Amino acid sequence: MAYSVSCSFVSYLLITVLSTIFRCRKNMNNLVLSLAPKFTRLQTLILRQENPQLEDNAVETISKFCHDLQDLDLSKSFKLSDRSLYALAHGCPNLKKLNISGCTSFSDEALAYLTNFCRKLKILNLCGCVKAATDHALQAIGRNCNMLQSLNLGWCDNVGDLGVMSLAYGCHDLRCLDLCGCVRITDDSVIALANECLHLRSLGLYYCRNITDRAMYSLAHSRVKNKGLTWESSMKGRYEDDGLKSLNISQCTALTPSAVQALCDTFPALHTCSGRHSLVMSGCLNLTSVHCACAVQAHRTFNTIFHTAH
Ligand SMILES: [Zn+2]
Repeated sequence: MAYSVSCSFVSYLLITVLSTIFRCRKNMNNLVLSLAPKFTRLQTLILRQENPQLEDNAVETISKFCHDLQDLDLSKSFKLSDRSLYALAHGCPNLKKLNISGCTSFSDEALAYLTNFCRKLKILNLCGCVKAATDHALQAIGRNCNMLQSLNLGWCDNVGDLGVMSLAYGCHDLRCLDLCGCVRITDDSVIALANECLHLRSLGLYYCRNITDRAMYSLAHSRVKNKGLTWESSMKGRYEDDGLKSLNISQCTALTPSAVQALCDTFPALHTCSGRHSLVMSGCLNLTSVHCACAVQAHRTFNTIFHTAH
């Protein structure tokens, strides 16, 4: 066991160090082709590139030899085609973490196919995969990847309510979901998440302009329903561990202060105070009156001191 851990760790180090050395020579693809067959127990492979060099034959080689791979980062490899996803589906069924953000050529059919085989996925980054992240692919993820905890769908503007609702109904362990720039989604998506994903801690809704107060109230009310929070548990300090810890509603211009304040009051881990911006509302000019409890307290203290001094 110790051997396997240290072996995989050394493999990880070697590949990352070598990839750094070879980066300037624009030889990443050849590097992977020559090294992957020698590292058959590799568990982590980070192949971030400044200039995309990776081609399908490299991912096919990884899939052929590295069946234990759990963490693979192929972000910004826009030369890759669906061939890579089909290869990973057959060769790397143990993937838990996959980053294909910025891989713009992948289709939703190939992504749906991958989810049929890689059912252990916990963290999936699809940011900018506009062609791949469709409702069809999200339905497959909801059906196949029930262990999913984190999903980034940033700027995937083909995503709609059908896809997000399928996710909510299939992935009950979802903790982080980034829907920033998913301009088509409506309150129905957020209501499904509020009702079905009781472990949700982080939600990004930046620029989702169809979102209204209904969505905010559904999140606020979901906490009451799912936590069974008692006065005792809140006194034990578990209060801040529950519920939303991060919410981005920047540019959601339809929201009103009363709904967002209700949400802020329900989730004490959401802060608007300086240094703890876990409730992000930039661009929402009508929400300037929304404050977390400590910001209100700080304001009161300041006023007391100010008035006493005069
Ligand atoms: Zn605060």
